[in-house]
Amino acid sequence: CGIVAHHGLVPALPALLDGLERLEYRGYDSVGVALDPGDGGLPSVHRTVGRLPALVAALPGEAHGATSGIGHTRWASHGAPVAANAHPHRDCSGHVALVHNGTIEDASRVRAELAVRGHRIATEVDSELIAHRIEDALPAVPDLHAVVRAVALAVDGLRGTWALAVLVGGVDGVVLARRSSPLLVGAGGGRLMAASDELGLGPEITEAREVPDGHLVALAGDVLWFDGQARPVPAPSSWSLGARS
Ligand code: GLU
Repeated sequence: CGIVAHHGLVPALPALLDGLERLEYRGYDSVGVALDPGDGGLPSVHRTVGRLPALVAALPGEAHGATSGIGHTRWASHGAPVAANAHPHRDCSGHVALVHNGTIEDASRVRAELAVRGHRIATEVDSELIAHRIEDALPAVPDLHAVVRAVALAVDGLRGTWALAVLVGGVDGVVLARRSSPLLVGAGGGRLMAASDELGLGPEITEAREVPDGHLVALAGDVLWFDGQARPVPAPSSWSLGARS
């Protein structure tokens, strides 16, 4: 029921876990994170049914070095609240890791289309379908802009609501998309963050902006803004979290 994302020069996990804890009030049945190993390898995915301490206990040592990652607290809409259905979800190749807050209303149509194209879909969860659509839209060797374009294509034509955060193996950066679910991005403390609400951004974020509905954002060295067709657009006017600075 909430998402967080982190990209920066400092370890991602403390800020992701802190953000997920701050989003707990929204309610959740399962929790997970995906982390970029930073060596060009596939994102590592760690998820569990139940509460945040269960996830923390299951994290391997190498997870703590990652500087880029995404996290999720789930309130199941499609598929039972079991570990296999927890986010992050992956595509067939394992390159795409995705967290999603919201619901896809035409999930059964999308599922049938993907099955025809040969995708092996692992869960009943609507969110997993978006990961497979991104996979279809990615070139063999993607860069960050290719990921932005693939996410834009993947959500185009879907019915429903989403705040998405996406990691792709070998690509440095986190790509975000929003339609009708809340999503903010912020900067501060050597990091860029995204979260479903201001609370989830954490205390080190000193400046934040709302992602405009229907738009995409990439957190890389900077915050990059895109319209729904993946065309670069100027940043929306900023608002500072003055009470924190
Ligand atoms: N529809 C997704 C699911 O059932 C996301 C739910 C949420 O926003 O937590 O897993």
